[in-house]
Amino acid sequence: MTARIIDGVALAAKIREDVALRAAALSAKGIQPGLAVIVVGSDPASQVYVRNKVAACQKAGLHSVLESYPETMTQEALLDRIKTLNADSKIHGILVQLPLPAHIDAHLVIETIAAAKDVDGFHISNAGLLMTGKPLFRPCTPYGVMKMLEAEKIPVRGAVAVIVGASNIVGKPMAMLLQSAGATVTICNSKTRDLAWHTRHADIVVVATGKPRTVNGSMLKPGAVVIDVGINRTPEGKLCGDVDFESAREVASAITPVPGGVGPMTIAMLLVNTIEAAERVQQASI
Ligand code: NDP
Repeated sequence: MTARIIDGVALAAKIREDVALRAAALSAKGIQPGLAVIVVGSDPASQVYVRNKVAACQKAGLHSVLESYPETMTQEALLDRIKTLNADSKIHGILVQLPLPAHIDAHLVIETIAAAKDVDGFHISNAGLLMTGKPLFRPCTPYGVMKMLEAEKIPVRGAVAVIVGASNIVGKPMAMLLQSAGATVTICNSKTRDLAWHTRHADIVVVATGKPRTVNGSMLKPGAVVIDVGINRTPEGKLCGDVDFESAREVASAITPVPGGVGPMTIAMLLVNTIEAAERVQQASI
């Protein structure tokens, strides 16, 4: 079997078109949806991610502000800046790019963002709402994966889903969304004994470890759907995921590529979350 390739670029483009229509409708009512993106330090990957996010906003007609601060920015100054943005009525979403420099407490930073503007969905209130099945914001990457499964008509209800990776930003919220959609979910981490035993039982395997080739074709059930969240660079400078694509595509029924899979969807869902935040403000003002 050679897997069908799930095209994240095409689906993300469709979602962004819909966001642009919703942004135009809101603008006609006097509200231009606005996103503030803050980056601290000069991590090259973070710089690329924030530039892509801001460019995507501009293309969809969203107001966006990119604030870039030096590595030496104090925690106090960052928290003050967030509080100012919390009170800014032109800004509906606030995103602080992670990772932050070691002297800044990322948890405190996330908790300082107003939950109603937390378009990344990382605030503890939003994590709690997601856990109880009443999400306000769904974290962008897992939200994008759910949209891909939906668009590809991949049955989730009753499916066995194995998530490899248990971070707060990908693995855990991914598990919550799949479980809410009716999947039976296992979350694996670096201490999991016999990872292949778990993945071989899965109808859907989501891999988000940050380690190339964590999962390969021999670890999959024939016909499984494989979602590769990973973004890594090979020694030659090429992008690769956390799945050994060549062996996995021979066993899976559908698979996301890297690049061109989950990555574009993450940005598209950030725009969706920002639009939703602005629409809530508009509805509250009626
Ligand atoms: P983290 O480093 O925060 O978490 C990695 C998780 O993977 C941990 O739970 C860790 O286990 C687990 N893990 C590591 N090695 C193994 C292994 N061999 N077997 C099983 N589990 C393992 O990473 P993130 O969740 O932030 O990111 C994961 C990947 O996704 C990265 O490549 C990142 O670049 C990418 N990413 C991509 C996005 C996109 O838009 N496509 C968005 C966000 C992230 P333990 O808990 O035991 O340490």
